[in-house]
Amino acid sequence: MTRPNGSAKKNNSTKKIERLLRQLLIELGENPDREGLIQTPARMAEMFEEIFGGYRMNAELEVSFSEETDAIIAKNIEFYSMCEHHMLPFYGKIHIAYIPSGKVFGISKLARLVEKYARRMQIQERLTKQIADEIIRTDIKGVLVIAEAEHLCMKMRGVKNDSLIVTVCHRGIMEEQRQLRDQVLSLIYASKPEMRSV
Ligand SMILES: [Zn+2]
Repeated sequence: MTRPNGSAKKNNSTKKIERLLRQLLIELGENPDREGLIQTPARMAEMFEEIFGGYRMNAELEVSFSEETDAIIAKNIEFYSMCEHHMLPFYGKIHIAYIPSGKVFGISKLARLVEKYARRMQIQERLTKQIADEIIRTDIKGVLVIAEAEHLCMKMRGVKNDSLIVTVCHRGIMEEQRQLRDQVLSLIYASKPEMRSV
């Protein structure tokens, strides 16, 4: 199968994925050679490289700018991930609040960290924990990570369920000091009082 461009770059595993997807179309009762589907396995294989690119992201998180501050909250970091039980997307927002120890993270570093763990086969609880665990390993005092997501595997199939799943993970002094945690939570949800019960 040829692509208009970049076919020389196509690696072995991409070609294997294409063949598997073609076979999947056949098993689903489709004709993979009809016009609308002929390029679908190639397009999907290419898309998988992007949406599962988190496995290849090794970007280490490090504190960079120096700043005297109590708590820093990065709200509404958008993410898209894949439910590992059904291979359907779940997506939403992640809020990261942390207490620095003199130095702070660049906001793009946090967004990249979210991508690193979102762009793979995931469950929301683990995604939340992995982000918190990587942040607490750096030179900071505590972190709170909240993920709010909609799951297509819940919306599209079975008992249709429109609920928003919220997962929370805290580490360091955010785990030890409840008052601090509540303070940060109320800041995060200042404009969304209905979510304060997390
Ligand atoms: Zn699922």
